[in-house]
Amino acid sequence: MWMNLNTMICTRFAPSPTGYLHIGSVRTALYCWLFAKKNGGKFILRIEDTDLERSTQEAVNVILDGMNWLGLSWDEGPYYQTARFERYKGVIDQLISTGHAYKCYCSKDRLEKLREVQMLKKIKPKYDYHCRHQVPENTPADAPFVIRFKNPLDGFVTIEDSIKGKIEIANDELDDLILARTDGSPTYNLSVVVDDWEMGITHVLRGDDHINNTPRQMNIFHALGAKPPVYGHLPMILALDGKKLSKRHGAASVLEFKEAGFLPHALLNYLARLGWSHGDQEIFSIEELIEFFDTHRINAAPAAFNPEKLLWLNQHYIKTYSVEVLLPHVAYHFEKLGLDLSKGPSLADIILVQKERVKTLKEMAEKSACFYSELVYEPMAKEKFLNAQAKKILKVIYHNLDNLQNWEKEDLHACVQHTMQEVGVKMPELAQPLRVATIGDTTSPSIDSTLMLLGREKTLARLTQSIQLITE
Ligand code: GLU
Repeated sequence: MWMNLNTMICTRFAPSPTGYLHIGSVRTALYCWLFAKKNGGKFILRIEDTDLERSTQEAVNVILDGMNWLGLSWDEGPYYQTARFERYKGVIDQLISTGHAYKCYCSKDRLEKLREVQMLKKIKPKYDYHCRHQVPENTPADAPFVIRFKNPLDGFVTIEDSIKGKIEIANDELDDLILARTDGSPTYNLSVVVDDWEMGITHVLRGDDHINNTPRQMNIFHALGAKPPVYGHLPMILALDGKKLSKRHGAASVLEFKEAGFLPHALLNYLARLGWSHGDQEIFSIEELIEFFDTHRINAAPAAFNPEKLLWLNQHYIKTYSVEVLLPHVAYHFEKLGLDLSKGPSLADIILVQKERVKTLKEMAEKSACFYSELVYEPMAKEKFLNAQAKKILKVIYHNLDNLQNWEKEDLHACVQHTMQEVGVKMPELAQPLRVATIGDTTSPSIDSTLMLLGREKTLARLTQSIQLITE
């Protein structure tokens, strides 16, 4: 395909702020971002907030927070369509004066009746061009009107879709769509074209729920004497049950994934692979994604969201990221749990011990809460492990720990080994009561790491408390 090499590639993400930011939309944003980056182009963020009733500031914030969290930085914007109404009006006037648009005075009533008749005749409901050629007789001067686009009556629109291939639509299938409502406000199809045109968008990647809009938008481009962008329509993301992924299936909004303890890189890697491939490769750095991304390798068929695979990737990145990189992400989850970090080990120590053991950062914070909060026993574990036999063992380990010179992992390990021999028990018989006595439950990192994280003072104080609790 011919391409002007002097034209800078420009993509955009154009969400409507009417709810949460669905991860299907995030995948669209990611692909637009990657495509722009790969081609040394520009990525624009545009908030399509023309639906005044459904758009909210809260939803705008969710979009901005989600994009920032993921690191999908935009080169321009965010532009807000509500700030551009005057510009849309100007283009509508231009289309009227060039004969590409007209005022339509048809009442709702008339249009409803027209529709009913067409339905009865089993023909596709469509505007009957009543006002296309002239203003109907006896129309009062102040009669309300909408502005309709004069769609070409014959010929075809051809979309060279970069994902789905060539799609042809006959113009007589398309309506004279409304460009401006009776109150003068522009409709989605008009404002999108004006923006894509004026913002110099060269490539539009969006969900295939918009595919019916594309021939209409291309016709408006042509009427403006402009070249439409290259379009690519992404198939939707399905849940494992084959239905469109929604909240019913668990998390569907990007910030829910943040709250659930996913790393942004894991989610980006997962979404990149969901519907796109580069050989068999599963793990991609962001640089690799930029380097390898190619719209021709996007799958035209819908992809199924697999939470297990996302968890696997998240675990991979938790394991392989350095402590420094993980720190701010982990800190977020500790703060969320209300843990006072001054009351326990350093986060860096926690991460070092826990990073091999968890699949999410939320899990890391939850499993580390015991090091910062008061000792709370899990009732079943307490019942099972804090018994008379354990009391004897706990007294010995208390004594040995109390005499320990250094509270380092190796020393603690040696101390535990030595105590096992001294009282003649195997690891579980010592470690499990010791865990319950110090952190309240039976699951924790290795016993030496647990004691190291807890620190001398807390370990000994909690052991005392637990020993006193056990009645012989
Ligand atoms: N604002 C539209 C949406 O959120 C997207 C428009 C477009 O990509 O052309 O569905």
